[in-house]
Amino acid sequence: MNGIVFDIKRYAVHDGPGIRTTIFLKGCPLRCWWCHNPESFSQQIEEFSQCNKLAEKSIETRVKIGKEYAVSQLIKEIEKDQLFFDESGGGVTFSGGEPLLQIDFLDAMLKECRLMDLHTVVDTSGFAPKKHFERIIDSVNLFLFDVKHMDDGEHQKLTGVSNKQILENLKYLIEKGKKLMIRYPMIPGFNDSKENILKMMEFLADWTSQLEIHILPYHRIGRDKYARFHKENRMPDIPSLQEEDARWAKELFEKAGFTVNIGG
Ligand code: SF4
Repeated sequence: MNGIVFDIKRYAVHDGPGIRTTIFLKGCPLRCWWCHNPESFSQQIEEFSQCNKLAEKSIETRVKIGKEYAVSQLIKEIEKDQLFFDESGGGVTFSGGEPLLQIDFLDAMLKECRLMDLHTVVDTSGFAPKKHFERIIDSVNLFLFDVKHMDDGEHQKLTGVSNKQILENLKYLIEKGKKLMIRYPMIPGFNDSKENILKMMEFLADWTSQLEIHILPYHRIGRDKYARFHKENRMPDIPSLQEEDARWAKELFEKAGFTVNIGG
């Protein structure tokens, strides 16, 4: 069983508890305007030409994005960080792209991790058939689950897909008593209205005490990748949000009884 990985981040501290190794699986069915990993869009291994300036000369180089791994090969990469997991209560996070797009590989990796008694996190957009979540639910310790917009029309405009399946999957995981953190990427002028946040709170109202919400303020990191990887950038040139800009939203969630953090 092989999968396509476009990055491996070691010593990650924002992708779940403790120190983690985050595996970025290639491929995503969404096209969020603010995405800072546009190289993850296609599930295929891609090659790009890039122009680098060296002294007076321009040198063209080829960059390959994505590498094929067998399950056993990727497990060997993960095992290198076992000491950090043990010391910090960390583990492995599968991110993307959308990791559930490579469901067979993800499922096989999660099962191997469970055999090794590793803590597992899946960072998902939620956009996948419910049967994919049913398949992996028992092999995942924690889901990081994005909620981007409650209005379906706006969601389709800003991400390219409907939010219906996403919200159904979210409800399914919560009702199964799964541990999850809601991640709300707060994008100024796009989904940061009080109305959108109130709708989110209304949807989650039955589960305030069991949910943790993480507000992720918009940042411009990764914008240069659109030119580098020859992708269309639809995001207007707006400044990053600072933590204090997101504080009013945090207070709104907290008043309704949620536990809230700003940041990953
Ligand atoms: S779901 Fe994540 S990886 Fe996919 S386009 Fe949106 S921000 Fe990018």
